[in-house]
Amino acid sequence: MGRPLLNPRLAEFGTTIFAEMSALAQRTGAINLGQGFPDTDGPDEVREAAVRALRDGRGNQYPPGLGVPELRRAIAEHQDRFYGLGLDPDTEVLVTAGATEAIAATMLALLEPGDEVIAFEPYYDSYAACIAMAGAQRVPLTLRAPSFRPDLDELRSKITPHTRLLLLNTPHNPTGTVLTPEEQRSIAAIAVEHDLLVVTDEVYEHLTFDGAAHLPVATLPGMRERTVSISSAGKTFSFTGWKVGWAMADAPLLAAVRTAKQYLTYVSAGPFQYAVAEALRLPDTYFDGFRTDLQRKRDLLADGLRAAGFEIYQPQGTYFITTDITPFGESDAYAFCRALPERCGVVAVPNSVFYDDPDAGRSLVRFTFCKQDDVLREAAKRLRDLTS
Ligand SMILES: *Cc1c(COP(=O)(O)O)cnc(C)c1O
Repeated sequence: MGRPLLNPRLAEFGTTIFAEMSALAQRTGAINLGQGFPDTDGPDEVREAAVRALRDGRGNQYPPGLGVPELRRAIAEHQDRFYGLGLDPDTEVLVTAGATEAIAATMLALLEPGDEVIAFEPYYDSYAACIAMAGAQRVPLTLRAPSFRPDLDELRSKITPHTRLLLLNTPHNPTGTVLTPEEQRSIAAIAVEHDLLVVTDEVYEHLTFDGAAHLPVATLPGMRERTVSISSAGKTFSFTGWKVGWAMADAPLLAAVRTAKQYLTYVSAGPFQYAVAEALRLPDTYFDGFRTDLQRKRDLLADGLRAAGFEIYQPQGTYFITTDITPFGESDAYAFCRALPERCGVVAVPNSVFYDDPDAGRSLVRFTFCKQDDVLREAAKRLRDLTS
């Protein structure tokens, strides 16, 4: 066979770094602060709602293509309750197999070969792969240490006649940057001026700290008709294995996304959709308590990392702390992460793999803090061995 088996567009995408590092954690028995999944399940009442749905025979057969009406209504209510966004649950909400499928369907639906997509880097690794699967080109806008804020003049300079869409992620994985309302307004103005589509990944919408608030860009003037907003139950409710996500957009845009989505999974997670509908209606005390608890965990891990000798960049949102390893006299994040389990029994993820610019993230390493307190304490203790 003369031809490579893998489509050349995907040649640069091997195993995702999360699979590689989680396998390393399993092999070595190290504490896994690499992949961002909680080690405690979400609320009991939500889990019980899934059990009830299964037992009552709700969702055990193919649910409707858009998602079950109960969940679509709950998503619309949630957007109204937290952001004042009025959505029609029958034409403006699409339930997907996690945010991951929503991203894939959106890229496949909206992009043509030759189109350019401007996305922040470091980027969530599925963005690059989905853009490539659609035959389009990614154009990175680099978020640089120490602030990791987007340079909006640089954004303007990257727009060409081929630019089709801006792919935003706020709160941003892995840097923890939460776009300010001013930044969002500037980005919205650029999108309107150049008639660009905007896709926003908001899976960490409820995981914000120190009073930083998430603002969906779809709430800004001129944005409704050009924005696909994406979120998911995984991070908000600590059920990452359920893979219930959703896309929201004006009816014509959403219809485009749905066209692609129906030939990916068609539908998924029937009984879990009913449970997520209940989760979205939990009282404010749930959302506030979750956020407060995570902020405390962030501080716990940040203190531990500092004590171990890392330079840390305080995140305003998400599950992650980005650190710099140069204080250890090291500069290769990937080599550092591959060796870390042997050196001290902890797994982390190199941010360098989320950059096209090899210099911007070379020495940056990401740790997650969505773990139990004693796990975070033990990891911090082990990391102190790096300098002793
Ligand atoms: C975890 C994550 C996702 C994936 O969400 P799922 O609902 O599990 O598919 C998407 N985007 C970002 C930025 C994430 O961190």
